[in-house]
Parts: sequence; structure tokens; C-alpha cells
Amino acid sequence: MTPLEQSRHLATAIPGPRSQQLIDRKAAAVSRGVGTTMPVYAARAQGGIVEDVDGNRLIDLGSGIAVTTIGNAAPRVVEAVGAQTAQFTHTCFMVTPYEGYVAVAEALNRLTPGDGEKRSALFNSGSEAVENAIKIARSYTHKSAVVSFDHAYHGRTNLTMALTAKVMPYKHGFGPFAPEIYRAPLSYPFRDAEFGKELATDGALAARRAIDVIDKQVGADNLAAVIIEPIQGEGGFIVPAEGFLPTLLEWCRANDVVFIADEVQTGFARTGRMFACEHEGIEPDLIVTAKGIADGMPLSAVTGRVEIMDSPHVSGLGGTYGGNPVACAAALATIETIESENMVDRAAAIERLMKDRLGRLQAEDDRIGDVRGRGAMIAVELVEPGTTEPDAALAKALAAGAHAAGVIVLTCGTYGNVLRFLPPLAISDELLVEGLDVLALLLADL
Ligand SMILES: *Cc1c(COP(=O)(O)O)cnc(C)c1O
Repeated sequence: MTPLEQSRHLATAIPGPRSQQLIDRKAAAVSRGVGTTMPVYAARAQGGIVEDVDGNRLIDLGSGIAVTTIGNAAPRVVEAVGAQTAQFTHTCFMVTPYEGYVAVAEALNRLTPGDGEKRSALFNSGSEAVENAIKIARSYTHKSAVVSFDHAYHGRTNLTMALTAKVMPYKHGFGPFAPEIYRAPLSYPFRDAEFGKELATDGALAARRAIDVIDKQVGADNLAAVIIEPIQGEGGFIVPAEGFLPTLLEWCRANDVVFIADEVQTGFARTGRMFACEHEGIEPDLIVTAKGIADGMPLSAVTGRVEIMDSPHVSGLGGTYGGNPVACAAALATIETIESENMVDRAAAIERLMKDRLGRLQAEDDRIGDVRGRGAMIAVELVEPGTTEPDAALAKALAAGAHAAGVIVLTCGTYGNVLRFLPPLAISDELLVEGLDVLALLLADL
């Protein structure tokens, strides 16, 4: 592997001529429904840098949406994937099983919150794992309703579209959606403040508001599961007020409702703990993982208490590719990298650096309504000065400016007004600071 220089470099305008050719070929060959964020095509990526086909080197503050958490093409992963492909690429775990799958399940059972006996099952995508968590919860409780939250994102398959809140672009024109899905109000401190300081800071109060809706509109006797992202991803990196998650979990336990934590975006050291649930000291019944689990190889999982995970009948769960051996080898190498290189601590250090810099920006710029998030999952919510009125146009302009300057950033949020940062943990402080400097300059210019 030739090392890729870890510096930002613009060799051409963005997009350069070779990317432009590919943009034209894409338009003629790929469904319009598949959108792209960056106007450049990738050629190589390592650590905190993505190099495009014109030789531009971009600072990666997106990690392919929180996937290459330990760094692009992390060395242990590259080696493990190479070694596994040389042995075999697929046999199907349901036909001729192999050790890697079992080893990943053992690692997940060990790493996820909770000391009790656990089991895991492996799948391909986050959406597929969410669907399976719901199947398992229904099988265990013999009930059918599921509650998800305002601003939630759980995927793009039929059941997960129903769980996802935002209509555009995720659901528009794609219904009808799966039945028996209900929505409850979230704890969204920045916006709850409009309804009083108490609701914004008292998570238990916000949880009681949600539980009241669930009680009156669904009923615990019909409810199989409550599913929630401990920190919302696509919804805008919303960190619920302290006490929100524990109060919900307590209610679920008392009412025979399975509490599912969707840690697809927050898992694997991203938030400065191995799993975001640890920040609130909760032990979910089921935990769904994907994205950061295997440094980009498609893999996802459901992990949980043995009596819940073992409730489906034999062969009730599975899939042709689920727990593919190459993806499992990548996951084991990813976990080894996180543990041996103290990447959980690295994420916490990134939080301090980013919150310090962005906090100072916020102090002098009242278009930054909120700076929030945990670890290497940090966002700024942009608003009309001095209000909570979302400014999506500013978020869009900032992202476009950053892209043209060679910095990969993403937007998110129900109102499209949140700029989010998901740097790989292997990124240097220098690159991180440079990326934020580019943003500060753009903010000053706009
Ligand atoms: C990305 C994401 C999903 C869906 O994962 P896919 O692999 O894209 O299917 C589900 N939940 C959360 C919280 C996510 O961020």
C-alpha cells in the first residue's frame, strides 16, 4: 500500500476534468434516485484523506457517513481482508459455517453494555439489522406495535422507512409503509427550550411526555418494542436531555416492551465510548450495530439478552450474505484496532478539540444556534440570527464552500440546517483544525 500524503491539496478546480467525465457517465448510467454529496470521484483513501481521480486530496470529515471510523483503509483491516479473500470469500454461514462469524458474535457480546448472557446475529446493512431486531422483539413479546421517535432515522427498506420520520427524501412517493408503527416525541433540548427550560434540561420530564403519548395512543399491551438512536444521526445529532433514555428504558422494562438501541451511527468508539448508551449508563435489551463495525465492509448485527435473541425458531433468522467472512475479518481487525490503539480516548480528545473551536465560533456568530454531539460526532445547528428559525440555505452554502475548498462535510437534520462532522479517529489534529479553519473562513465570507 503506497502511503497517501496526509495533507489537503487542490490540483484542479473541484470537480476536476476526470471527475466531470464520471459525473456525466453517472448521469447516463445510474438511477437519478441515487444522489451524491461530493462532486468528485474517489481514487484512494487513507487515514483522514480522500484522494480524487484528478489528484485532489480532501480532508475527510465524513468517514463515508460514520463508517471508516478507525480511518480509511486502516492497515489491520486491509491485511485481514486480503488474508480472508485468499482463503474463501463466501460459503454462506447457514450452509457451511466458519469461525469469523462466531468470533464477531463473541466480540459483540463482550463489548456491548450489560454483563448478562447475550447472543448476536449478523446481517449486511443497518436497515436489515433494524428489521431483524423488530422481528426478534415481536417473536419474544408476541406483540406487534413498534414506537419510534420524531426525527428518527432507521433506514430505507419498507419497515425502516416506516420507522424513519423525515418524508423528504426518504419516504416521499414510496408508500404504503409497514403498519403498526407509531411515533413519539423526542427530547430535543435546543428546540424543547421554546417550551420551557425544564423540558429542555429534564430528560425524565421529556420521557414522561413521550410515555404519555405511547400509553394513550398505542398501549403497552400492544407494544413489542421501542426503538431509538441514543444520539440521533440523520435527524441532526440530537443528544437527548440527561435522564430521557433511562426513564424510557425503565418504563419498557416495567411493561414487557423490548428496548432497542439503534447504535448504527453511534457505535464503535464514535461518541467517545464504545457505545453511546454507556454515556447514560443504560443496558438496552437489543442493540443494533452496522456502519463503524467493519471499516467499510458491509456488516451489521443485532446483539441482546439471550432469552430475547433465542426466541425466534431455528432458521427464522438469516440471509445469503449475512456475516460474510470477509466482512467478519474486517470487523475483528476493526475491533482490535479500536482496543489496541485506544480509539475511544481518541474520540473523546476530538470532541474537546472540536467543541472548543466551534464553541469559540458560536460565541462570535449568532447564526450558530447550537454546538452539540459527543466524541467524533459533532454538529452545529444553523439558525436565523438570535432565533431558533432553521437556516438550511446557510448549511447548504457552507457545505458547498467546504467541498470546493477540499473538505468533505455532510449536512443533516429534519430542517436540513445542521452541519455534521464525523471525522475518522485516525485523522491528525492538524487536519482537523485545518478543516475547521476552512469553515470559519467560509462563515466569515457568507
Ligand atoms: C445509517 C443508519 C441506518 C441504516 O443503515 P444502512 O446500512 O444504510 O441500511 C439505520 N440507523 C441509523 C441510526 C443509521 O445512521
